[in-house]
Amino acid sequence: MSAAFGKFFLPGPTEVLPEILAAQARPMIGHRGPETEALLAAIAPPLRAAFRTERPVMIGTCSATGFMEAAIRNGVRAKVLCLVNGAFSQRFADIAKACGTDQHVAKIEPGMTFEAAQVRQLLRESGADAVTLVHSESATGALNPLAEIATAVKEAGDVLLIVDGVTSVGGSPVETDAWGLDYLLTGSQKALALPPGLAFAVASQRFLDRAKTLPGRGIYLDVVVYDEQIRNNQTPYTPAVSLLYALQAQLKRIAASGGIEARWVRHDAMRRRVEVWAAEQGDQLGVTFLPAAGRRSWTVSCLKLLQPDPTGGQIAKRLEARGYTIAAGYGKAKDTTFRIGHMGDHTVEELDAVLHELSEVLRRG
Ligand SMILES: *Cc1c(COP(=O)(O)O)cnc(C)c1O
Repeated sequence: MSAAFGKFFLPGPTEVLPEILAAQARPMIGHRGPETEALLAAIAPPLRAAFRTERPVMIGTCSATGFMEAAIRNGVRAKVLCLVNGAFSQRFADIAKACGTDQHVAKIEPGMTFEAAQVRQLLRESGADAVTLVHSESATGALNPLAEIATAVKEAGDVLLIVDGVTSVGGSPVETDAWGLDYLLTGSQKALALPPGLAFAVASQRFLDRAKTLPGRGIYLDVVVYDEQIRNNQTPYTPAVSLLYALQAQLKRIAASGGIEARWVRHDAMRRRVEVWAAEQGDQLGVTFLPAAGRRSWTVSCLKLLQPDPTGGQIAKRLEARGYTIAAGYGKAKDTTFRIGHMGDHTVEELDAVLHELSEVLRRG
């Protein structure tokens, strides 16, 4: 193993523990044989626990974007309302456009969040039959109030709520069943702290019922088939078997270390640690949180730079020279912000070390 764990703080891919990486190094098994079936059967209950659902969790061999596209193709009847507050939520709108789906794009400033009242209004105006939302917008570190928004969408009747939980599932509370989410997806390489290459999603019964009526589902991303297959501990196509080994090992670890709630508590503590750092030193160091208090992601902290120099990219480079990896801002905010991805298996102690280095780098200009 090269560098010690605890130095790599990108908002994805996130750092993977050596023992989880090692779990991949096992011989291949036939993907239609009893061994894969047994593996998928063993994975199912802890994966449902991570998603807080009684429903099957579908597993795709693709990155998270694959299951975002699946949501659009399988869940939108005529028109989708895309709630855009950053680059990843914009991706849903781009996918809808590329799939020829009629869309109503509601765009707000980066770092801002959508609120339930606003969503009610947008649903009335747009006449959409589905809504896309990114719970934790990794480009800006903003956390949308998902439970409240889900309630607002439910009131609208036959409207499906499609949620990207890529940097929330496994890092902060997401209650698939209790909040009545119609489709929730994530990818392996974010808060679940696995190597990239798998996507996961849960679809509600009404999502599946609608999907069955839609002609444009395609082949590889047909959610109806994923759902049918996973109920029998199968996948439609060859799964990334090595990643399933890593997933099984990681789910075991999560269960043995207090379950998903303990993970939430640790991520909450990490987010609060950055908040305390910013409150104590922000003025002096020239940084402030981009999103408002109460609307900050538990897995990605996005800090705004109050002066043009150094840029987000320069800060990331200087930290790299000190052995730590963080991210510059995303897209247009590359220079004016920087992001710390504190998710997966990172600890408050490791985060403290990054913040210490960050203070040094910012103090020296
Ligand atoms: C990383 C990320 C994605 C894209 O994931 P890929 O695995 O690269 O397809 C989508 N949404 C959010 C919120 C992300 O952070």
